[in-house]
Amino acid sequence: MPSTRPRLEPRGNQLPTSGGGALDSHLVPYVYSFDHKYRRPPKEQKDLLGGKGANLAEMTSVLKLPVPPGFTITTDACRAYMHGGWPATLDEEIAKQIFRLEKAMGRKLGDPFDPLLVSVRSGAKFSMPGMMDTVLNLGLNDESVKGLAQVTNDERFAYDSYRRFISMYGRIVLGVDAELFDHPLEQAKHRAGVKSDNELSAKVLKDLCKQYQTVIKKATRAPFPQRPRDQLRGAIEAVFKSWNGARAIAYRVRERIGHDLGTAVNVQTMVFGNRDNNSGTGVGFTRNAATGENKPYGDFLINAQGEDVVAGIRNTEDLDHMKGHFPAIHAELKDIFDRLEAHYEDMCDTEFTIEQGKLWMLQTRVGKRTGAAALRMAVDMTRATNGGSGKGGKRWRISHEEAIMRVAAEHLDQVLHPQFAGKGKVLAKGLAASPGAAVGKVYFTADDADHASLRGEKVILVRNETSPEDVHGMMVSEGILTARGGLVSHAAVVARGWGTPAIVGADAIKIEGKQFHVGDVVVKEGDVISLDGTTGEVVLGEMKLEASEPPPEFYTILRWADQVRKGKMAVRANADTGEDAANARKLGAEGIGLCRTEHMFLAPDRLPVVREMILAHTPHDEHKALAELGRVQQIDFEEILEAMDGLPVTVRLLDPPLHEFLPAVEELRIKKATSGLTKRETAELKAAEDWAEHNPMIGTRGVRLGVVKPGLYAMQVRALMAAAAVLRKKGLNPIVEVMIPLTVNREELQLARSWAEEAIEEATKGLKKKPEVTIGTMIETPRAALRADEIAEEADFFSFGTNDLTQLTFGFSRDDVESRMMPAYLEQGLLKRNPFETIDQGGVGELVKLAAQRGRSVKKGLKLGVCGEHGGDPESIQLFYEAGLDYVSCSPFRVPIARLAVAQAIIGGRKSDTK
Ligand code: PEP
Ligand code: MG
Repeated sequence: MPSTRPRLEPRGNQLPTSGGGALDSHLVPYVYSFDHKYRRPPKEQKDLLGGKGANLAEMTSVLKLPVPPGFTITTDACRAYMHGGWPATLDEEIAKQIFRLEKAMGRKLGDPFDPLLVSVRSGAKFSMPGMMDTVLNLGLNDESVKGLAQVTNDERFAYDSYRRFISMYGRIVLGVDAELFDHPLEQAKHRAGVKSDNELSAKVLKDLCKQYQTVIKKATRAPFPQRPRDQLRGAIEAVFKSWNGARAIAYRVRERIGHDLGTAVNVQTMVFGNRDNNSGTGVGFTRNAATGENKPYGDFLINAQGEDVVAGIRNTEDLDHMKGHFPAIHAELKDIFDRLEAHYEDMCDTEFTIEQGKLWMLQTRVGKRTGAAALRMAVDMTRATNGGSGKGGKRWRISHEEAIMRVAAEHLDQVLHPQFAGKGKVLAKGLAASPGAAVGKVYFTADDADHASLRGEKVILVRNETSPEDVHGMMVSEGILTARGGLVSHAAVVARGWGTPAIVGADAIKIEGKQFHVGDVVVKEGDVISLDGTTGEVVLGEMKLEASEPPPEFYTILRWADQVRKGKMAVRANADTGEDAANARKLGAEGIGLCRTEHMFLAPDRLPVVREMILAHTPHDEHKALAELGRVQQIDFEEILEAMDGLPVTVRLLDPPLHEFLPAVEELRIKKATSGLTKRETAELKAAEDWAEHNPMIGTRGVRLGVVKPGLYAMQVRALMAAAAVLRKKGLNPIVEVMIPLTVNREELQLARSWAEEAIEEATKGLKKKPEVTIGTMIETPRAALRADEIAEEADFFSFGTNDLTQLTFGFSRDDVESRMMPAYLEQGLLKRNPFETIDQGGVGELVKLAAQRGRSVKKGLKLGVCGEHGGDPESIQLFYEAGLDYVSCSPFRVPIARLAVAQAIIGGRKSDTK
């Protein structure tokens, strides 16, 4: 079948049942109108329609809400564009949809008498503030602007709309520097002697339109496009291209969004909130997105367009104020909020416009929220108190399981955010837009913040307001402070989504170039300030920070998560001291999955003894040093086992190369050449030279070390068992798991096991109640994973060391690759994820699954866990659950996140929609 359209995978259940243009039945359209009748609810088709498009279709075709008509160009079209340029049939499909729109509205695009105007918005599956956002008033040109002036009987309005469109189009679609438009505007205001744009006359605005067109011609060497169809194609193409813009890519890398998804484009009939004082525009949330309180809130502006609210250019009013101006519309909006909540069974955010007394819904989505709000809403929504008022208020509630799925790892992280430890002198107060406290050096542009962060500085970005162009600077900032804008301004929404502390609308702050002042206090670039995004307070200088107390719902959700996990998958912690172990237990750890004993050796009072052992010339000296080491290790082990009384503690025998315990060869050589070495230093230099390796990560470490330094592992096991015996005598119940690192075959493990067994026997001889002890190994090399069956014969348990397993499977050095090449690999899509953060499903993940299978094929009850960094990563946890592991182990502060993620993996592994 000849076709110029790239072939698409058949999407059986997404085939349209009506509308969408008369295309060959086997081909899927690229464009759908909002009122298209789908077989599956459009809100479930974000892959195809993008988030915005899916919800516009849901509001139009399912909920029958007042939505200005329009259509969505699918992500398929974007992908086809990226692969092979503008799809051949797209113009025709768009033309058909425009024709429908024109018919429905009784107006034509570009009509010199009564023009139809549209907005063009990007809309990917996940909201991406780093991408092209919106072009409004598209369809205006030198002729149609006259028609708009005539039908609205408002020349000022028409030319104001036109100049906004030219500058927006110039900036967003043609890439003209925004400042080139600011200059003529400021001059016009100055000449007219007025302060705000609203006060400019029609004549001045008309003149500005001309000046803006000259700006564009100069900058692009082409005239501003007058044909609406060219304008439309230009805007759509700009959205497609923006998918691969540097900022969008950086955002996706940070948010772990796939580069291959593409974006949809929404074309929607314009409605005007800036027609008159019977018009307005706003942003509304069905519940409070900052606190979770069950009360709608939002920002509203009379006689304004949507961009004015989001950009924070004018000071907004809240919804209660709106009620005073528009009581009937306020009631209608409230009813829509109830219906939206009942339909989505979640908090929704919305954008709406009132045009000459009529309410229009411009978009909705399940709203972003702070961590505290996510927890509170999830718990509140399980109760039967939702909905019920007004026409749209059907009663609804969600299950505990659903509530668990609504909370993301980031939400838990946020409520564990630090706060100011004491009270500081408050320099200014703004709106508390995103909770948590931050300290850093002040920078005033996104680029400056970015560069400072690359120099390793902690940064606070201070702006009048932010826009998508600032996202790269916001991303690297500890905190964000803006002088203007409300709780739904760009800065507030983006910061909340990321859990970055932020204060917005701190209008006492006056920014002038690279400094700001509050009264006569001047803060210059590079000065340190502290922000408390929970209270909105800005403090000059560095405040001390302390961890905060999470809200009660934090404990409720985790309790429910634990009920789901019970008996299925445990969560342990990686901890090396009694204090860490106690802390981990408080956070819900059900044991220790990895105690790295080398960390004990690095303490300043231990290091000399370790060096004694390495330098020992005679068995007697070595024995003496080992005995001393054993004594101090026993004290450490007692503390840890006591903190974890009754829970399993996996102690890994020494793993890293011995040269890590010796002074740096280079330093000693320099000293030798300059001031000379002492006798001991000479011995240390010799030992350091002897033990130096070119590739220490794959050198004499792990069980290999045990083989070349016999007696070392036995000493460690004796110390460990002696500690267990002491606790046993105290009536406690230590549960010990001895773990051998970096094993590659059965023979190695057999040998190491024999040392451990002998030492256990020796240390517990004569003890009536012997401590529980098992012996197992880490699976950290691809060979160990592949030969897991033979290794299992000698092991009571396996613990996957996925840090080394990733390093050795990819051949990526843990020390060198992450900083040097990983950013380039992620940006260019050569890797979808950093495999040291999220398990590589197809490679390392396969090895984990295979080793689990092979190990259990030999020993059914073989206990399996993971203790690499991936043990605290929600996506990796999903794979570990599927692989049948008994527990994950992670750093103590990740324990709550792992408890939640394990429960989510068990419930179904779906991602939270609120992220
Ligand atoms: C691992 O390799 O995953 C592991 C936990 O060990 P370490 O990070 O100490 O090498
Ligand atoms: Mg390791």
